[in-house]
Order: sequence, then structure tokens, then C-alpha cells
Amino acid sequence: MIQFKDVSVTYEGDEGKVEAVQKLSLQINKGEIFGIVGSSGAGKSTLLRTINLLERPSEGRIYINNQDITDLKGEDLRLLRQKIGMIFQHFNLIKRKTVFDNIAFPMVAAGKPREEIHKRVNELLHLVGLSDKSNAFPSQLSGGQKQRVGIARALANETEILLCDEPTSALDLETTKSILNLLKEINQKLGITIVIITHEMDVVKNICDRVAVMNDGYLLEVGDVYDVFVNP
Ligand code: ADP
Ligand code: ADP
Repeated sequence: MIQFKDVSVTYEGDEGKVEAVQKLSLQINKGEIFGIVGSSGAGKSTLLRTINLLERPSEGRIYINNQDITDLKGEDLRLLRQKIGMIFQHFNLIKRKTVFDNIAFPMVAAGKPREEIHKRVNELLHLVGLSDKSNAFPSQLSGGQKQRVGIARALANETEILLCDEPTSALDLETTKSILNLLKEINQKLGITIVIITHEMDVVKNICDRVAVMNDGYLLEVGDVYDVFVNP
């Protein structure tokens, strides 16, 4: 369970302060697929990035499984981040590393033993359907395959939460469907909580259990997808 209590995030921009997130309170339940929608600049990405403390709240508290994470530092922060994977619109793979090494990277960084890394990466390659691409480089993959590598990398450690920042925006319709199916499978099979930012209504209707609508840093609405969008 992820809880935001009166969370604000402020940036110091060239033209003064930007209140990217304003006094936002929200609860994301364990095991759900939770969507965040809203126009560009609404604060979606900033809010998502507070969950692994890539952004720090200027006010308010954030709790994960009832633990206040807001001020975590050092080793505690490192351990928190191991449980939270993230995927991106443009995949953010490392160009000069193979698929295997991209997926292994978070485990190498965490100091896992070589045997364990080997076993886990092969499991993940199987899960995302890329066992035959282990030695390929990112430039040899399609967009959908790159995102599958991104997903495998995000699951490499003891992932409990998967953060997705516009994960299908760079993909065509058919590829989007297959990535959404993979995310659903991961949610159901592994019980991983998924938080997904999107501007695509199809994505929300297709996989989200609940959705939050943001505008100008504020939370406008939160509820079941059906209540918010289908039958408001
Ligand atoms: P969204 O994901 O909904 O498009 P963002 O969270 O990216 O929104 O941005 C929210 C607001 O914060 C915008 O006004 C944006 O310009 C501003 N912002 C985002 N990141 C930074 C930053 N690193 N420095 C200054 N302002 C930022
Ligand atoms: P495309 O838009 O062509 O599908 P990407 O947006 O993923 O590809 O990025 C273009 C290239 O840059 C890819 O080969 C990718 O592996 C590489 N790349 C993307 N992010 C990073 C990064 N953070 N570090 C190194 N290389 C990256």
C-alpha cells in the first residue's frame, strides 16, 4: 500500500517556484493497477517519482506498507529502491550492453552472486518472451522488444511495485496491446502493484483498476475507472 498525505513538490525554476504537486492525498492499494492521467504538466511524472524518492516532497509524508519513507537515506533508501522498478517511455536501456547485461544491471549493482544473476536473468528473459535475444544489443530490437527488456530489468530485484511512465506512448497499437497484456500478467502472476502514467484512455480502460485525474498539481478525482470515465 502506498499512501500520500498532503504531499507537495516544489521545483526552483528559472522563473521562480513551480508547485508541481500540491497538497495531494491518495492511497494506492497493494496488488492493484493504478492509473494517473491528466494533461501535460499536471504533475503526474513528479508524483510518480516521489514513490522511489527520485523527487522529494517539500511538504507532506509518503508511506509504503505503513512505513514512512519520506526521509529515507543511504542504505535504507537503496533497499527501498530495490523493491521499486521503473519503466519509461523511451525505455532508457544502456546502448553498449547486451539484453542480458541490461537486465542483470540492477542485480550487479546490488552485489548479487553471479550464479543467482544468471538464473534470474534467464527466468526474466523467459517471462518477457525474449530468451532468444539474450546477446542482442538494444539497437537490434524493436520498440516493443526494448520495452520488454525494460520490464525485465525493472523486475530484476525483489520488486513489489512497478512504476510506469508513459510505457506505451512510443509504441504502435498492436505493440501497446502486447505490452499491456504482459503488465497484466505480471500484476496477476507476481502480485506486483503497478502505477502507470498515461495519456491514452485505452490504456486506462484496458488495464487499470482505479485511476487518479490530476490537473495543475492537484488531484481532481480518484476512483474506479468505470465510475470516473465510463459512467460518471
Ligand atoms: P506531467 O508528468 O503531468 O507532464 P510533470 O510532473 O513532468 O508533469 O511536471 C509538473 C510541473 O513541474 C510542470 O510545470 C513542469 O514544467 C515542472 N517541472 C517538472 N520537472 C521540473 C524540473 N526538474 N525543474 C523545474 N520544473 C520542473
Ligand atoms: P527508439 O526511440 O529508437 O526506439 P530509444 O528511445 O530507446 O530508441 O533510444 C535510442 C537509443 O539510445 C537506443 O539504442 C537505446 O538503447 C539508447 N538509450 C536510451 N536510453 C539510454 C540511456 N539512458 N543510456 C544509454 N543509452 C540509452
